[in-house]
This record gives sequence, C-alpha cells and structure tokens, in this order.
Amino acid sequence: MLEMIMLGSGSGGNACVVRDEDTMILIDAGFSGAEIRKRMQLVGLDPDNLEACLITHEHGDHIKGASILSKRHKVSLLMHPATRLAGKRIFNGSERIRHFEMKEVMDLGSLKITSVPTLHDSATSTGFLIESGGTSLGYLTDLGTVTEDNFLMMRTADFLVMEANHDRDMLWNGHYPPHLKARVDSRVGHLSNRDSAEFIALLAELGELRGVMLAHLSEKNNDPELARSVVSNRQERDLEIFLARQDKPSKPIIVE
Ligand SMILES: [Zn+2]
Ligand SMILES: [Zn+2]
Repeated sequence: MLEMIMLGSGSGGNACVVRDEDTMILIDAGFSGAEIRKRMQLVGLDPDNLEACLITHEHGDHIKGASILSKRHKVSLLMHPATRLAGKRIFNGSERIRHFEMKEVMDLGSLKITSVPTLHDSATSTGFLIESGGTSLGYLTDLGTVTEDNFLMMRTADFLVMEANHDRDMLWNGHYPPHLKARVDSRVGHLSNRDSAEFIALLAELGELRGVMLAHLSEKNNDPELARSVVSNRQERDLEIFLARQDKPSKPIIVE
C-alpha cells in the first residue's frame, strides 16, 4: 500500500508526500520551509518523520525550502550531483545531501526508489518510481516531452503523478512573451494536456496504470477542467483522474 498527498503543485511551488506503513518521503520542497510544515500539519503529518526528500531538479519551484527542511527537520536531500551543483544558490553545504545516479535503485526504509531521467531545461531532471510491496507510484513533472525510457520505466506504475502543464492554444494565444511561449512548448519545456493524455493512455493500455494525478498545471495557460477532459476523453480504459492544486493539499490517495 502506498499513500500520496500532493501538498501543492505548479510554478508557484511543488511538494508531494509519499509513504507506506513504515516510511514517509517528500518529493521536492518548492515552498518555504514554514509553508511545507504548515501544509503537512494541515493533513496531520509531521516533517520530523520524513525519511528523506527527493529532488527532481534545481528550479526554484522545486527546491525553495529544501535547505531549511534539511536543517530544521534533519531530512536527507537526495539528488543528482548536477542538481546540487546547479542549485548552489540554495544549498550552502550545511544540508544532509545524498547523491544518486540516473536509473539508480535506492532503498529508503521500506520504499524502493528508482530515478528516471526526464527532458527539461535544467542541469538535469529526474522523475521517480516508488515501490512498496507489490505497489508502485510514478512521478513525472517538468518535462517537455516523454521518452521511450520514461515509458519503459513507468510501465509497472499503478498510479502516476503526471504533468499536464498547458493547453497549446491557450499558451500560444496568451500573454506570455514569444520566447517564453517557445520555451514552454519546446522539447525541454513543459508537457501539454494532449501529450500528457497520450502518454497516460499508452500506460493504461500497455502497462498497469489505474489512476493519475494531473500536476504542475499552469494557472495562465490551462484550465483544470479542460486538462481533465482532454486526458479523460483520450482514455479507452477506466482511469481515476485527480487534479493537483497550487493553493492547497490534495486529499490522501491510497494506491493498492
Ligand atoms: Zn516546475
Ligand atoms: Zn522546472
């Protein structure tokens, strides 16, 4: 059994709790330390009980509170060495940091974690597959396109947290400056609803996937119900679809 609570997701900050009966971890710490603690307490959790925090990449909306979290709550930060180097404006050497390589399989308490390389315009960028007993949860946000590798590694996931960042028409008809539109839409930018829907459909058909949480939705270039309908309409199988919010934690989701 795995339990997942998205504390918040979007360009204003990302943090997600995943746990089984014995071990609790956080993926990303993109809010202030105080905000992470507040949101965890809101759902009845204590950051002192975190086994570790996995870091996907060095962008501010993913590491803002990582240093404070590590120091205040004695939480180890797990990241790729390139993430640490690129995040040196945040990491000052006083944190507990452990490095991993891409596709490394790590034991964290009772959880098994595999790091998954993703395409994004950061020094390096990581997705994760988290397993406990026979259950697994995938985590893929901040990627401009999905790779065959992403598919192969997520094929066993029962549940997936998946970026559905923007609607391409809303992006290109919106108010972002041209260079920013091009960046978001590029192979190393963010994933559109349609591309997300396509990947989810593939996993539902050829893999084990039974549920998704759409995450990192743009507040300017997307609409939650539009994202939900694009993903839902593309599915040929029954799939539970949840939407992550920026402003408050999700309800706990149990994956069995
Ligand atoms: Zn981000
Ligand atoms: Zn990013």
